[in-house]
Formats: sequence, C-alpha cells, structure tokens
Amino acid sequence: MTISRIGSSISQSATLALNQTAAALRAKGEPVIHLGGGEPKSKAPADALAAAAAMLKTGEVRYTPAGGTLALKQAIIQYTEEFYGTTVDPANVIASNGAKQSIMVALQAILDPTDEVIFPVPYWVSYPEMVKLCGAVPVPVLTEDGSFHPRIADIERKVTPRTKAVMINSPNNPTGAMYAEEFVAELVGRCEKRGLYLIMDDIYHRLVFDGRTPISCYTYAREPMETSKLIVINGVSKQYAMTGFRIGWAVASKGLIQVMTNIQGHQTSCPSAIGQHAAVAAINGEQGSVEGLRRTLENNRNALMAEFDSFSGVTATRPDGTFYCFADFRHYEKDSTKLAKQLLEKALVVTVPGVEFGMDGHLRISTCGSLQDITEGVARMKWVLDPSAPAEIRIGDRTVVRDWM
Ligand code: PMP
Ligand code: GLU
Repeated sequence: MTISRIGSSISQSATLALNQTAAALRAKGEPVIHLGGGEPKSKAPADALAAAAAMLKTGEVRYTPAGGTLALKQAIIQYTEEFYGTTVDPANVIASNGAKQSIMVALQAILDPTDEVIFPVPYWVSYPEMVKLCGAVPVPVLTEDGSFHPRIADIERKVTPRTKAVMINSPNNPTGAMYAEEFVAELVGRCEKRGLYLIMDDIYHRLVFDGRTPISCYTYAREPMETSKLIVINGVSKQYAMTGFRIGWAVASKGLIQVMTNIQGHQTSCPSAIGQHAAVAAINGEQGSVEGLRRTLENNRNALMAEFDSFSGVTATRPDGTFYCFADFRHYEKDSTKLAKQLLEKALVVTVPGVEFGMDGHLRISTCGSLQDITEGVARMKWVLDPSAPAEIRIGDRTVVRDWM
C-alpha cells in the first residue's frame, strides 16, 4: 500500500475517536461517564426538526447551489447583522458541511505549500491537521506566561515572510477562555497592516458566561469588505445543538468566497440539503433553546469549578464560555495520554488528553453532560488520583476498592 506523504502525516481526530470509545463502552453496558464530548446533549430546536421533517416528507431532497441555498445565505446575512453589526451580500457567504468544512475550504483557498499559519496553543485538535492537508505549515504559538490568553507579542514573534494567516478560536476549545476585546481589536489591526488573513473561529461565540456578550471583529476592521482578509467562521452545530446536521458557514470577501465555493463544489457538491433547510429554521426561528443551553452550560461550569475546588492537585482556570475546561493535572501525571487512559481503565471516565491540543499535563473536561455526570465523573477521578479520597467507590452497580497508592 502506498500512501501519500500528506495522507500519512494526518492523525486520527482524537476527539471523534474518543466519542466512539465512549459509545462502544456504553453499548457493552459499561457505566462510562463521557467527560470528553464536544457536543451539547440538548435537542435541536423544534423549528429545525419540523423543517427537516417537512422536507423529508416531500421526497424532494436534491443538490443545492454549491455554496448553499439563498434562503440559508439570507438567514446568515441576518445573523451577521444581528451579532456582528455588519451588512453583507449573499456573495460574501458560503455555507458548508459543518464549520469544519468552511475552515478547510478557506485554508485551501488561501494556502500554498510551505505557507505558514499561526494559531495559539492550546488549539483545537483539527487546526494543525487542516493546515497540513494543504501542504502548509502549522505554527502553534505558546503564550510566554503559560496563560490561555495569547498576547499580540506572542503572535508577532512567530510571523515570518511565509506567514499567510493567523487563526484564533474564542471562546476557545479546549480552554473556554474568551479573548479580550482589546486583543481582538489589536489583532485585526495588525493583520490588516501586515496583509495577513485572519480566521476568526466564532463557533462558540453565543455560549458565554457571567454576562459576557459576543465580540464582532468587524467593529475593528478598517479595510472594506471586498479587500478585507478577515474570514469569520460560525455555524449551527454548537449553539443550536445541531452537530449531526453538519451546517457551518464563512463570511469573507466576495473574491475569496467564490474560490472557496469552487473548491467546495468539487469536494462535496454542496452542504446537505436537509441540514440547510433545518439551519434556516433554527436561525430564523425561536431562539429560546440557545439561551437555555447557555444557562445549562454556565450552571455546569459552576458545578465543575466547585468540584475542582476540593480536588487539591488540580488547577482549573474558570472558563468564560463553551463547554470545556482545560485542567492542569501535572501534580499527578505529566503524560496526559497516560493519565486519560488510566482514568478510563480504572474509573470508566472519558477525558481528552491535553497533548491533542498541544499542551501536555492537562485534560479537557467537557460540561456537555448532566450535573450528575460532572459530580460523579470528578468523584471517580479523585478516587483514582487523590490519596485523601475514600478508597471505596460505586461504579455502576459495583463497589470497587482502590488497590494502588
Ligand atoms: N471549530 C471548533 C473550535 C470546534 O470545536 C468545532 C467543533 N467540532 C468546529 C470548529 C467544527 O464545527 P462543526 O461541527 O460545525 O464542523
Ligand atoms: N469540536 C468537537 C470537539 O472538539 C467535536 C469533535 C470534532 O469535531 O473533532 O470535541
């Protein structure tokens, strides 16, 4: 078997693989607690479900235009007006099979082999692999002070003549950190000045806590839309709990969107017709479910932080949004892969090793599950790692006794 150099350089998505591990254990009846998940557990909005069902009933589920239907583009235009305070045209919008495909076609449209893309560490698992798929070079940048908030100087020090783009995700997967408005403002200005693309992955922007509100990068852009190198990514997967519908989008200059659409037309022809129809209904419909999800996640975040308060060896930075917390377990174990394996084998708790996000010694803990998942999951972790935790615990219908430490 001969495999391409690019193909063999791409690793499996650790987050998706762990979902499968958790599902397989559950199917065997194991009382697994999935704290590794990256999708809300709530139902998609009723409007979206009704629209999808209605389309299915017609039996007419066809190809759509490569960059998405006009109805979806119009819904995205309204969304952009509401949340970004900016007016765009249908030709400034592409809808894709998930935000993932929007990012991918954007990278394919702007990158030549050996070009470099800078993004802060820790980063979402797919960023390095997506850049590598273009034959380009991922340039992860560690913050000098080890915090989850990159500084402009951290990014500036990685810029070379080959730098083509900077990509940020705020609120962030895996840390839950929402970057400061001043940072976003400054980054938009610096990228404009240097002629760099700036990809803003805003997929979690409405899932923020403690009274925060989404930030619009357009507030700080000087460049007119048509010469702008800003690429704004968003979608229905997280905010509307519609991960399986696979609809995301990008907003950018018309020239770039045309190239992205050409690429997408050859890749997947168009986003799923049912997904698009459902996404229009979600965006235009009743928005109560988004606020419901946001509140649940804030509540879950609070519960997780309270659990970590009494877990003396864990340092957890309070997330500003998303459904992730990136906790520091180095006191117990520096090798996050080994640690996650130990937690799974001994206590049936799924977590994602920090090394997959470019930062070892940490685990990404998800708050997508129930409050009980959070409290019981952390109790099981304590049982595995903390000598002061009771030696006996119930896992499902078994009582297990710790025989290590
Ligand atoms: N960006 C980030 C940071 C994500 O966490 C995800 C979730 N997988 C995506 C993009 C892609 O979202 P989608 O499921 O819409 O492809
Ligand atoms: N973005 C989610 C996560 O990070 C879903 C899985 C994926 O797309 O990789 O877990």
